[in-house]
Amino acid sequence: MSDTLLVPCASCAGLNRIPADRLHDAPRCGRCKSAVLPAAPFDLDQASFASQLKGDLPLLVDVWASWCGPCRSFAPTFAQAARELQGRCRLAKLDSEANPQLAGQLGIRSIPSLLLFKDGREVARQSGAMPLPQLLAWLRQQGI
Ligand SMILES: [Zn+2]
Repeated sequence: MSDTLLVPCASCAGLNRIPADRLHDAPRCGRCKSAVLPAAPFDLDQASFASQLKGDLPLLVDVWASWCGPCRSFAPTFAQAARELQGRCRLAKLDSEANPQLAGQLGIRSIPSLLLFKDGREVARQSGAMPLPQLLAWLRQQGI
C-alpha cells in the first residue's frame, strides 16, 4: 500500500498527492489553496461528480433536496459525521433537484439516500435518514 494518497480537492476537484501521515494536518490544495479535506460536507454537482469520484479515499454522498423535511433534519447529523470522519472518508452532498440528470443516472428513488463509493464505484447504499451512531456503525461495516 502506498504512503501517498491521491485526493481530489473538495473545492476545485484538482487531484492532490497527500502523504498518508499528513491527512489529518488540514492539507491545502496545490491548485486553489483551499482545504482539500474540509471538516464539513462539500457540494457535488454534475460537472464535478466524475472528478470527485477519483482518488484513494472513500466518498459518501448524501442525496437530498431542499423541500424534503427528513433531508433537512438529517443535515446536522451528516455534518457531524464529516467532522468525525475527516481524513478517512470524504462526505459530499448532492442536491437532487438542482442535478436531476445525475440523480437519475444514480438511480435515486427516494431521498435522503446515502451512497458510498470506493475506487470510483458504488459499494453500498442506504435510504432514509439515521442517527449518527447508526450511520457510523453502517460505515464501519463497510470498512471505514
Ligand atoms: Zn483545490
